Amino acid sequence: MLQEASGQALAPWACVPAETRGRLHAEAPAPTRSDHQRDRDRIVHSSAFRRLVYKTQVFLNHEGDLFRTRLTHSLEVAQLGRSIARSLRLNEDLVEAICLAHDLGHTPFGHAGQDALNECMQEWGGFEHNLQSLRVVDRLEERYPGFDGLNLTFETREGILKHCSRANAERMEQREPGGIAQRFLRGEQPSLEAQLCNLADEIAYNAHDVDDGVRSGLISMEQLLAVPLFARYHGLTLAQYPALAAQPHGERRLLYEAIRRMLSDQVYDVVAATQARLAEVQPADLQAVRAAPPLVGFSPAMRAESIVLKRFLFQNLYRHPQVMQTTDLAQTVVRELFAVYLARPQEMKPRFAERAHTATDAAALARVVCDFVAGMTDRYAAREHARLTGKNLLSTP
Ligand code: MG
Repeated sequence: MLQEASGQALAPWACVPAETRGRLHAEAPAPTRSDHQRDRDRIVHSSAFRRLVYKTQVFLNHEGDLFRTRLTHSLEVAQLGRSIARSLRLNEDLVEAICLAHDLGHTPFGHAGQDALNECMQEWGGFEHNLQSLRVVDRLEERYPGFDGLNLTFETREGILKHCSRANAERMEQREPGGIAQRFLRGEQPSLEAQLCNLADEIAYNAHDVDDGVRSGLISMEQLLAVPLFARYHGLTLAQYPALAAQPHGERRLLYEAIRRMLSDQVYDVVAATQARLAEVQPADLQAVRAAPPLVGFSPAMRAESIVLKRFLFQNLYRHPQVMQTTDLAQTVVRELFAVYLARPQEMKPRFAERAHTATDAAALARVVCDFVAGMTDRYAAREHARLTGKNLLSTP
């Protein structure tokens, strides 16, 4: 029987490493690690992973040292994912690999950067961060003599792809018949490990955006009390520690404790609700998981409360005038960078300039520019923009 790191057997519905559908380029197995452990290690050692530390989650990287970046976000997602995976006897190493890689394709400046780049690429197939994450691990990392990319297993790549339009799935299916896009054409679900990573992502950002939002001063605890999910844990904390609000720095402890309880309860809710669905459906194996409806998720009550919190964050934090102002500037930076490199590809780093030189048509050239801009950190994009346009839109340290 296969043992997980925790010493317990994997559930019958888990992705068993020994039964991996393998890598695009065949490789001998590693002597001491499973294929999914090896994927996780390759991701941690990639240069795209290191760049996440200087990429925006919500707040621009230079706005403060204590806000989440894509890197700390990815680590929190991996922690939550692993913890839930262990309770459900899923493949923890696979979950960790997918969670750590899930945001590798994000542009500088968060969603603002992605929207701007997608606009720039409209004529040439657009830009989508899930597809870009896959592009990073399949092609853009150049670390191995024998192949481009990291040559990850099917299961990790499937989890990284997450969503995909039908048109993109059809294109991918042509390039890789029977590959990771096929499930979109068949209407099948991904593995439970992949389903779990999506939810861990959502739980992580809802919680840490409340934290960063309050500490930045853009949202207040009073405003948050209108969100039932937060208000409940805030109330429970005050009931247990009534003196907290009056203590010096007590507000901060109150905030952390309410978030901590909210996070824990969401994790317990996912574990219980998923176990209940698994008990009902009783998937015999991974194939049965694929044919079943989505199985990893919140209970209906927690789902409804989580939606209210999401809506609150959207209206009050992501659309806050101060966030929107930097969003506009960031989009200008991305648009202008794209235009300059498209006109003068030699301004890009040599390996991209060389790819641009051999591009056979306008679409191929635009994709090289898109890959280059998407890979930038916030501060590199701001510096390059200043160098190429003489404007300083985003002051960088
Ligand atoms: Mg994420």
